[in-house]
Amino acid sequence: MSSERPLCAVCGKPIEGEALRCSVCGAPMHRGCVDEEVLTDAVGEPLCPYDAALAALDWLDSVVSQYSSSIPRDKREELAERLRKLAALLEGSE
Ligand SMILES: [Zn+2]
Ligand SMILES: [Zn+2]
Repeated sequence: MSSERPLCAVCGKPIEGEALRCSVCGAPMHRGCVDEEVLTDAVGEPLCPYDAALAALDWLDSVVSQYSSSIPRDKREELAERLRKLAALLEGSE
């Protein structure tokens, strides 16, 4: 019905023709916008940037919750510093 073209969840531009779809939320993406090394789930299905980040956080959450006491203190501080940098990047993005 609608002639509006879907907008790519990665670059925000309209998609002509066939789109890849996020396997979680169904968001459309240009094939060329998806780095298949990064934006895929465990079985290789495409993920939008939000769902890819969320899946990685869920996994990290499990690892840290179960094994943080097995990580040496200086390494835990190094990991925490990387997380602070990521949080700053997320909060600084438009
Ligand atoms: Zn795109
Ligand atoms: Zn998604």
